[in-house]
Amino acid sequence: MIQAQSINHIGIAVRSIESQRGFYEKILGAVFEGVEEVPDQKVRVGFFRIGSVRLELLEPTDPSSTVAGFIEKRGEGLHHLAYTVEDIDRCLESLRQQGVRLIDEKPRPGAHRTRIAFIHPKSSGSVLTELCEPQH
Ligand code: ZN
Repeated sequence: MIQAQSINHIGIAVRSIESQRGFYEKILGAVFEGVEEVPDQKVRVGFFRIGSVRLELLEPTDPSSTVAGFIEKRGEGLHHLAYTVEDIDRCLESLRQQGVRLIDEKPRPGAHRTRIAFIHPKSSGSVLTELCEPQH
């Protein structure tokens, strides 16, 4: 067991952060907290907060981005759930030992200087699941 601490954020695939921003800000009343580019994943990430929950709108910056592939196949929409964990290296080792399939064998850089890794949907009931270790 890796003991997830909380939901870190909800990832939503969009073609354009700008065109979806109105729904989150003006309709839902979410607070827009800025945009950051994550070159490693070839996405721009738009951060929105509702209460203590963070939403990340993922806009591909390149057709080879996995998010671009997702939108191509399934359209815009819910993409992944991210859980806060401590010591992501130990978590990945523990998952491997439990036979959980991983997309990322090693952590990679996420937005806000986090370290992240994805579990394969085959091992998580088709819900793309991200582990996210906040910076300390
Ligand atoms: Zn994420």
